Amino acid sequence: MKWMLFSFILVIVCMASCNKRPKKAAISKGVSELLALSREQTLTDLHYELSFDIPGRPAAAITLKEELSFHYTAATGAPLLLDFKEDPKKLKKITVNGKETPVRCDNEHIIIDARLLKKGANRIHLDLIAGDGALNRREEFLYTLFVPDRARTVFPCFDQPDLKATFTLSLAIPPDWVAIANGRLRDSAIRNGQKFLRFAPSDKISTYLFSFAAGKFRIARERWRDDEIEFLYRETDPEKINSSLHAIFEQYKKMVEFNEQWTGIAYPFQKHGMVAIPDFQFGGMEHPGAILLQASTLFLTGDATEGQLNSRSHLLAHEIAHMWFGDLVTMNWFSDVWMKEVFANFMADKATATPHHEQGFSLKFLTDHLPPAYAIDRTAGANPIRQPLDNLEKAGTLYGGIIYHKSPVMMRQLEELMGAAAFQKGVQTYLKTYAFKNASWPDLISILDELAPADLHAWNAVWVNEPGRPVFDYKAEYAPAGGPVTGFTVFQKAESGSNRVWPQRFDISFYYKGLVRTVTVSDSLSAQEVPRALDRKQPLFIQFNASGMGYGVWPIDTAMLPHLFSIDNYVSRASAYISLYENMLNGRYTTPLQLLRLFESGLARETVELNMRLLTGYISTIYWNFIAPQQRSRWTGQLENSIWKALLQQKSSNNKKILFGCYQSVFGTEPATARLYSIWYSQEPPANVVLKEEDYTNLAFALALRSKTSDKLLQQQLLRIKDPDRAKRFRIIMPALSVDPVVRDRFFAGLQQRENRSNESAVSAALSYLHHPLRQPSAEKYLQQTLRLLPEIQSTGDIFFPGNWLQSSFGSYQSASADHIVTSFLQNDRTLNSSLKAKVLQGTDNLKRAQVIIR
Ligand SMILES: [Zn+2]
Repeated sequence: MKWMLFSFILVIVCMASCNKRPKKAAISKGVSELLALSREQTLTDLHYELSFDIPGRPAAAITLKEELSFHYTAATGAPLLLDFKEDPKKLKKITVNGKETPVRCDNEHIIIDARLLKKGANRIHLDLIAGDGALNRREEFLYTLFVPDRARTVFPCFDQPDLKATFTLSLAIPPDWVAIANGRLRDSAIRNGQKFLRFAPSDKISTYLFSFAAGKFRIARERWRDDEIEFLYRETDPEKINSSLHAIFEQYKKMVEFNEQWTGIAYPFQKHGMVAIPDFQFGGMEHPGAILLQASTLFLTGDATEGQLNSRSHLLAHEIAHMWFGDLVTMNWFSDVWMKEVFANFMADKATATPHHEQGFSLKFLTDHLPPAYAIDRTAGANPIRQPLDNLEKAGTLYGGIIYHKSPVMMRQLEELMGAAAFQKGVQTYLKTYAFKNASWPDLISILDELAPADLHAWNAVWVNEPGRPVFDYKAEYAPAGGPVTGFTVFQKAESGSNRVWPQRFDISFYYKGLVRTVTVSDSLSAQEVPRALDRKQPLFIQFNASGMGYGVWPIDTAMLPHLFSIDNYVSRASAYISLYENMLNGRYTTPLQLLRLFESGLARETVELNMRLLTGYISTIYWNFIAPQQRSRWTGQLENSIWKALLQQKSSNNKKILFGCYQSVFGTEPATARLYSIWYSQEPPANVVLKEEDYTNLAFALALRSKTSDKLLQQQLLRIKDPDRAKRFRIIMPALSVDPVVRDRFFAGLQQRENRSNESAVSAALSYLHHPLRQPSAEKYLQQTLRLLPEIQSTGDIFFPGNWLQSSFGSYQSASADHIVTSFLQNDRTLNSSLKAKVLQGTDNLKRAQVIIR
């Protein structure tokens, strides 16, 4: 005890003396947590005035005049650091409180001398060439995308989410361009061949939410609530425009109303606006007043499938939910970025659920979230929902399947645990308390904990702070054999082998002839007795998690297999498909080929579109990833036949189209190739299958992959594409599919240059063709360099690109040699940061498993 007391005093003495003589801290790159904290404590009332002069040519420099004002409680005498991740030579002039000062930069920061600053109001003027890093300049348009810390690549700022500011924007653009921003357009004038736009000050927002887009866009407007919704787009197909605009506006309004009602808070921002971006690298981005959205998700033809309509409404619902969750109340620091994503998805799930259609909601929830959550959580690179973050420059690596898909599952369990009304009340309190401010997950948990009967802090530790999922098993006893259930115990442990348990609610269904009896279990033990299962007669079979509410790897009663496609409840069928696939990956119950054949046998019988999508997706993955090439070619003809037969038998044209896509993914025999070529050539699809331009584009890609002679087909397809943005995308992808390996080599070599990677969406698609299993013998040589480029991809690309880069490259390999490349890279490369290493482990998990389960 004495020793401890002594050391305690020593620490205090040291801290006091350190305070007297502050050591000069080295300026580190990025935005460190320490820097953010110190600025958050000394800066308030931030306002940016930004005036960009934007020429039409993407290569021409953009000049920027910036005025930054703030209130400063300078206490330390240390210089103030502004973030600017660009060449310091771009800074032409800096004036601090009226006094011009020489430009001083170090490690992505502008250093403002403390002597130039004063307590209270301060003003800094900067003249510069804006950085291009996050302006996404294309030929006829540009759009900013600053999440998570990329505002600092364009203009000097305090780039951290808890220094919210107002932004007043002015733009000079070519006269035939239009623009949109967070604030309302105040006025517009044309002078000397340029258009000058001035926008009203934005609401108080974080730097990552400040945004504008400008270029040749068409504008649609919808009057609403004495106001209007503005929508910029570039789509040119009249059919798509006519069948989509109304639906987009209606969906927008519906989602705003839903969130207002649920949160009890009126739409918090000054205006409504959206932009459809062609080849957007994200699905959407929630800039208030100027939401950016993937154009191809929004614009659909009149015969869109249920899946496409769902994606569109889910995308809009997700981004609009962010207006409250993320934009109004923002995380303090990006370690809690998952919070805004979980609420956006959670609210989107609620908002898009059809009332009185509980099964529809459950099915969508199950198929949207469980497969992609498991795809990460089952890997050795799995991350927890909440991850520490010491520097914002690494914030991009936090994004992925866990925050988007595991966290809604966790949130649904939390809502179950608390009761829906108490949960909603807690979230409303949280939003009202922190409106236009910042809050952390612990802030929310302490509000919810007041309203919850259970210990939320313990619950939080296992669900939020640690990665991984539980594996369940069970033991049922019958006495006498075939008689009633006399004992029923459920066991759970962590997949990693530890004794961790996930407190959660799930169900167990007992199937009898013409009857299903379901028992709900609240499980929080490694061995949980289920008394409610007792005394029942022995069922035909048992199914775990038939409702899809629970999370983990569930045991399979193999007596279910012959009855699989006769299970009446479509949610239960979907849950069974997922469980079978997850277990197969763990080498349990079925081999890949057995499971492929089982799923194949259900193609004609499954009727529900989302389930059909699940089945065909699994078939395609198993076929390419987990069946050895020799074995594959033995089964191809039969698989083609089953799919085609099912396509003819299915009634709904959507199911037919999904099956057509599956056929197009796996075909390999000559008759099938001839059939698809003739469909592509004549543009005459099978009866009741609707194929549009993009479908023919994908079909052309599939045929080109199998072609051994020429690229003529691709050139012909390019001539058929009318929309200029889609033609551009096609031209990027085309060389990756060339029959000539020299062209493919050149394509890959070109990716070393950053400018060739700027259309990340098209590059990811191109990579998946470059590395298609049929091309792997000549593509494996790119893998090592693909891994080596990873840090550069992370530092120059947007947040989803490192994951997409890996997934598109490694996603369909199964060879031992490819596995060896990954293993030796991970062993020998000492420079890779831990989050990128985790991304590699996530993106190569199928490859790793293939080494074990392919026999
Ligand atoms: Zn989001």
